[in-house]
Amino acid sequence: MIYLEQSGQGLCTVERIYIGKIMMNGFRKEKRNVKAKQEMQKYPRFREILILCFSVLLFGFYIGTAYASEKEGAAAPKEETAASTEERTTDIPVPEEAETEDTLEAEGEWEGITNPEAEDDIDNYSADEILADYDPESLELPSGASVEVSADDWNLLLVNNRHPIPEDYEFTLGTIRGSLQCDERIIPEFLSMLQEAKKDGITLEVCSPYRTLERQEYLFDRKIRRYMNQGMSYMDAYKLSARVVNVPGTSEHQIGLALDIYTNSYKTLDEGFGETPAGIWLRDNCAEYGFILRYPKGKEYITGIEYEPWHFRYVGRTAAKEIMEQGLTLEEYVENL
Ligand SMILES: [Zn+2]
Repeated sequence: MIYLEQSGQGLCTVERIYIGKIMMNGFRKEKRNVKAKQEMQKYPRFREILILCFSVLLFGFYIGTAYASEKEGAAAPKEETAASTEERTTDIPVPEEAETEDTLEAEGEWEGITNPEAEDDIDNYSADEILADYDPESLELPSGASVEVSADDWNLLLVNNRHPIPEDYEFTLGTIRGSLQCDERIIPEFLSMLQEAKKDGITLEVCSPYRTLERQEYLFDRKIRRYMNQGMSYMDAYKLSARVVNVPGTSEHQIGLALDIYTNSYKTLDEGFGETPAGIWLRDNCAEYGFILRYPKGKEYITGIEYEPWHFRYVGRTAAKEIMEQGLTLEEYVENL
């Protein structure tokens, strides 16, 4: 174009005007560039400062969005997909001070009267209190021969987070003392165990016997609320709670076959109880009376529940001896029957 303008050959007037306009525009553009360059020289770091400001703004926006979505997650957890939740919660560590459902029971801290049973005292009875109601001779353990064990036996009912209590499950509640209840079929052997421990100088105490569904729901919901108060989303809190408290409908306390037992000199339900004389005595002798340490250390990947040296489950003497001698869980034992 410029060449044509300079040569002036073969162009009509309209074309000349058009080319002239283009040249003027080019000239103005050039002028603006020179001006911008001069500005840049006046403020040599202007561009860097501009980029930095923009980056800070972008980062602030990102953080704000992430925080907002976290809050939204806590408020409306049901919108999360199961897959994404699974992915995010797989590695949530259980806090060191994690309380189990049993710890919550033992604390007796009932926050508000949200549960009809909340007004009751927790069921905490010492062996002395319990045994006072019975004639010692009647508590002698009858010698029992090994019996045939079947996966259908009532005392081998597997209840865990993957195996809820069957809807039609029925049993008769028996009273040990006061509000201390459990399946009536396990009471004679349980009392024998308390008496034998006492003879060996071990004073046991029962802190959590049979538990209703409503009570289990209360404990579970309260655990979730506590985790959420620490800033966790509902789904994270739910997953974590399920590792220390059985989901309602899946607790052995609800079928009256589990009892939490500690001692008057160590009333904290934590791992330390397993190293006390009472904890050791129970572990060594429980099978004699048909009980097993239900959530052993190192088998959390099978039971799905943290180590609980105070939680004892009745399975019958034959099965209990095999389970405790071989270091099995009820899950492993039942699977191989
Ligand atoms: Zn328990």
